[in-house]
Amino acid sequence: MSSSIHIPTTQTAAVIENPGPNGTVRINNSHPVEAPGKHEVLVKLEYSGICGSEVRAMLGWGNYRPVIGHEGVGIVVTTGENVSESILGQRVGVKWLHSACGLCAGCKTGSSNHCANPVFTGLHVQGTLQQYVIADSRYLTRIPDGLRSELASPLLCAGLTMAGGIGKLDNHIPSDGWVVVQGSGGGLGHIGIQIATKLRGYKVIAVDSGASKRELSLQCGAQFFIDFATENVEERVKEITGEGAHACLIVSGAEAAFELAPKLVRNGGLLAIIGLPPATFTVPMTASLFAVKALTVTGVMVGTEQQMVELLEQAAAGIINPMVQVEDFSETPRIFEKLKNNEVTGRIVVRIPA
Ligand SMILES: [Zn+2]
Ligand SMILES: [Zn+2]
Repeated sequence: MSSSIHIPTTQTAAVIENPGPNGTVRINNSHPVEAPGKHEVLVKLEYSGICGSEVRAMLGWGNYRPVIGHEGVGIVVTTGENVSESILGQRVGVKWLHSACGLCAGCKTGSSNHCANPVFTGLHVQGTLQQYVIADSRYLTRIPDGLRSELASPLLCAGLTMAGGIGKLDNHIPSDGWVVVQGSGGGLGHIGIQIATKLRGYKVIAVDSGASKRELSLQCGAQFFIDFATENVEERVKEITGEGAHACLIVSGAEAAFELAPKLVRNGGLLAIIGLPPATFTVPMTASLFAVKALTVTGVMVGTEQQMVELLEQAAAGIINPMVQVEDFSETPRIFEKLKNNEVTGRIVVRIPA
């Protein structure tokens, strides 16, 4: 079943080539358009954010699809088998979680982001850096009216991941507790600061480097900014908090951030691992330090669908404001180089060719 819109057989896509240390991204104008299967729809995309984690695909850190991207916003144009046509024309978000099994403990308790058999966008199925993407109708997110597509885009992974991460602090730290955000000026960090301060009342110490990331972090509500390149982060955090922060969100994938994290929290503190270093990287912390400091460590894999819906509503209401730079799709290869070199402040979203 399909709408009256003409669907081409080929399209423009950004494609990973030669994944590995010399991997690149190339624009391909004759990439095939797929047809939706059971429970699936075809979405004509308007915008896609480019997540820092996508660099992993270019560097060959995993067996990704040639077309990656998991922050897509667009319109449903075709329905597959078992999908109501009422979804045609709806504006939807295509996220990292393409679909889940629906049967495991995570799925049955409202946490499909913890599914035992998940299917991920860009890893197991083609992603959103193309004009037309296949999505599972059961895991799509409606974009609320009044929220611009380019602003909704970074909320689908960056925002949701931070909503998931900060959700893990609730009931664990005091309502006015100190939270360190390592990697505060990137796509995830700057939204995380807003969620932590505006929606929870936590006090945030932002850690990153450079004038633009400092400015963005403070603008988003951080009480303090520490530049890790020019300041002693551990000393500064102790000066500000006394015994250390209540929690540290490790958004950065840099090894130094993981080494530093346990030194930044007080006894009984919580470390949330959000950043994704290479798969072979192990956390450089001694077991005895965990015991002596009574640390809690938690991993974060995006967030729940309920957290997604709430976050989009908060953005539509103007409470959460992603800092988005919109670029032309043809700039995608250059954007990947900037992300690789950690040169992106906030989030870059590309406009998909009509
Ligand atoms: Zn992402
Ligand atoms: Zn499941």
